[in-house]
Amino acid sequence: MKKDILEKGAILQRDRETYAIAPHIPGGITDTVTLRKICDVAERYGVKELKLTSAQRIALMGVKEEDLDAIWSDLDQQPGAAIGLCVRSVKICPGTTWCKRGVQDSVTLGLKIDTLYHAMELPNKMKMGISGCMLNCAETMVKDIGVVGTPKGWRIYVGGNAGARPRIGDLLTETAPDDDEVLAVVGRIVAYYKGCGSEQRLGRIVEQMGIEEFRKAVMEC
Ligand code: SF4
Repeated sequence: MKKDILEKGAILQRDRETYAIAPHIPGGITDTVTLRKICDVAERYGVKELKLTSAQRIALMGVKEEDLDAIWSDLDQQPGAAIGLCVRSVKICPGTTWCKRGVQDSVTLGLKIDTLYHAMELPNKMKMGISGCMLNCAETMVKDIGVVGTPKGWRIYVGGNAGARPRIGDLLTETAPDDDEVLAVVGRIVAYYKGCGSEQRLGRIVEQMGIEEFRKAVMEC
């Protein structure tokens, strides 16, 4: 029986025959050349439907197994980490780049985080979101790591989850409006998660330890 093909980023569809693949589009920010390329490739391989995903990707639906390698090659991309135990694409709101309500530059910070962590293998899947203000349009409070802009800097939340057992993230710490400070904290969280010996989602670990103990463990690791 067919199943997902992790190494090709291919998700078996309901027909149990074809696959969906989702090229990586960092932050969901793209341009007409990339969009044309995706459309050209879709047409070339008879992919009739494209689906905008909640992870700010564009999925090609109904791909034949025998076309997977050629499609990734034509897209000039490594298979996107849409499935498997890894860091998924980082969700990024428009922030001060475009949004009139933005108070911090979520696009610049989010793209740095995406470059550093997207597809990194971890004990379980990890979702991250970066919002440019407390309105949280990148669903930051239900991400494993959520970074939210405030007038004074950034708040970093951990342990959020929008899955079968939804959980609002806990506030881990606040930083100045300095990308390097945020990157250092995110680095600590990821390093702790990698080495903690648990295969649970981050939220379960935070829940079991309590945010105080988790904070101590992460900030001292
Ligand atoms: S979170 Fe704030 S800055 Fe980001 S899109 Fe929403 S309103 Fe704009």
